[in-house]
Amino acid sequence: MLSRIRGKDTAPELAVRRILFSLGYRYRLHVKALPGRPDLVFPARRKVIFVHGCFWHGHACLGGKLPGTRTDFWAAKIDGNRRRDRRNRAALRRLGWESLVVWECSMRRVQSLTTVRARMVRFLDGGTRSKW
Ligand SMILES: [Zn+2]
Repeated sequence: MLSRIRGKDTAPELAVRRILFSLGYRYRLHVKALPGRPDLVFPARRKVIFVHGCFWHGHACLGGKLPGTRTDFWAAKIDGNRRRDRRNRAALRRLGWESLVVWECSMRRVQSLTTVRARMVRFLDGGTRSKW
């Protein structure tokens, strides 16, 4: 399914927040002062989580498939978004922040929720190694 929803408070993002909150994590939302305005920020851990929409951020899944019309336009647009994402994550790393990307599609599939939750916990509680 092609999702054109973008911006704050998307369903997958709310699901991520709900899971982490229920596990006892506390976070700040959409911190403008950090590169890429990360969706969830854990200041004491110096870690951030991005919840990426598959279409807008060009995920290699069905949801990231380009539309059949104006394909060149969308390819350039999404490619620009991906480059910006990479720049933002590199900038965060230089500032000493680790980042994790959670893809929209992984929050929509019930069978992958357990995996995603474990991944987020490992990321938040783990050491200082960068997660890409
Ligand atoms: Zn995806």
